[in-house]
Amino acid sequence: MRYQSTRGNSPQQSFLEILLGGLAPDGGLYLPTEYPQVTEEQLDSWRGLSYADLAYEVLSLYCDDIPEADLRTLLRKTYTAQVYCNGRTEDNAQDITPLHWLGEEQGTRIGLLSLSNGPTLAFKDMAMQLLGNLFEYALKQKGQKLNILGATSGDTGSAAEYAMRGKEGVKVFMLSPRGKMSSFQSAQMYSLQDPNIFNLAVAGVFDDCQDIVKAVSNDHGFKANYQIGTVNSINWGRVVAQVVYYFQGYLLATKSSTEKVSFTVPSGNFGNICAGHIARMMGLPIAHLIAATNENDVLDEFFRTGVYRARKSAETLHTSSPSMDISKASNFERFVFDLMGQDGKATAGMFKQVDEVGGFDISKDSVFKEMAQYGFQSGRSTHENRLETIRNIDSQYGVMIDTHTADGVKVAREHLQSGIPMIVLETALPIKFEETIEVALGRPAECPAAFKDIKSKPQRVENIDADVDQVKNFITTHVN
Ligand SMILES: *Cc1c(COP(=O)(O)O)cnc(C)c1O
Repeated sequence: MRYQSTRGNSPQQSFLEILLGGLAPDGGLYLPTEYPQVTEEQLDSWRGLSYADLAYEVLSLYCDDIPEADLRTLLRKTYTAQVYCNGRTEDNAQDITPLHWLGEEQGTRIGLLSLSNGPTLAFKDMAMQLLGNLFEYALKQKGQKLNILGATSGDTGSAAEYAMRGKEGVKVFMLSPRGKMSSFQSAQMYSLQDPNIFNLAVAGVFDDCQDIVKAVSNDHGFKANYQIGTVNSINWGRVVAQVVYYFQGYLLATKSSTEKVSFTVPSGNFGNICAGHIARMMGLPIAHLIAATNENDVLDEFFRTGVYRARKSAETLHTSSPSMDISKASNFERFVFDLMGQDGKATAGMFKQVDEVGGFDISKDSVFKEMAQYGFQSGRSTHENRLETIRNIDSQYGVMIDTHTADGVKVAREHLQSGIPMIVLETALPIKFEETIEVALGRPAECPAAFKDIKSKPQRVENIDADVDQVKNFITTHVN
């Protein structure tokens, strides 16, 4: 399998060659040169496989430069009930991403696919845990080391730290805005005692942290000398790992591969739903993929109108589903490339427009009409909708959902189609956003037993100024 850039002007590479990098040299994102096709018979033959073995069937189509036995070992080590049972204790924990039907609404079954049973109680663990094992494997093969530098306002940073803890050849330097995360989120990160994980609490806001990461990454000499890398959401390994749970959700919801299902996906950077698009392109019988956004509705606007209008950071609202507070959907370019018939030149032109004038408009182009064949729909949810949905799902079904999942349920209910089951991806557990749950329900969020004492654990964190040289200095004195 070869990988090409969405901007059409970089050499094609193999899976292991693109795994540790970020953007392609021409500024594009990597995609396979073709999507492997899965037949109905193949799909039916995957029913009953363990999650790890299902992951093997899907990923072996994409990572053909990893020997089969090695890939299977890596996947079986990653997708265990032990790693993915933090949140729940039901006997379907071995499904790794169990499907919980809520009930029937408007003649259609609606259910939640639980993606947040991993170590940090959010769906990013699904891909990040695999990335940790893949990175360790690839670095050993190449005899290299990697120092991951990142900035986080919560979810991504903790998922990365829990994925990389104890991994040979990897160190993590994670910048977070001091005092700006929820107490649960900071406790989750700062309570890690692994010697290869460094939490740097920056006196500043998230944008300051991100600016420091950019400044260090733009110092090419420093970056090369100290093997600096990232684990951002455009990494192909993360996207492809997420394709697996669309297959798992489909197989759990159906009895035969002649049936169709729809998925609603709480969306920010378009990473999660991009994996759904890829599953559909491989032939998984998905009727619709519904992007649910919060008040930061860049994606909803595009799917409704054909106008993509990236927001400035000052226009990005801080909402009660904060992991979807984005101004630009960084993985969106992957879908645009497919939409434009995999024309790298056209895609490069459109994203040049995003940089220069903040967006593009295809509302009058024929591609906008043709877009229907990709099955996308969309909707938007507000703070009030979120609170209402959390209350309603709690009272109607006795199930507590988090704020992002609530955005998904709200939008899913607007797109129910009789006879086609609707699966909403549950992207986090309510305890991660306990302040809003308390507001919605007037009682505290449920907390998995393993996390009850998280806030009283000893913390390991360094305070640092919002200063590039201090961060560089910290790295140079801790890399060896
Ligand atoms: C990251 C995240 C999202 C958004 O996912 P994208 O891949 O960026 O679209 C939604 N919900 C939660 C809880 C998240 O952590």
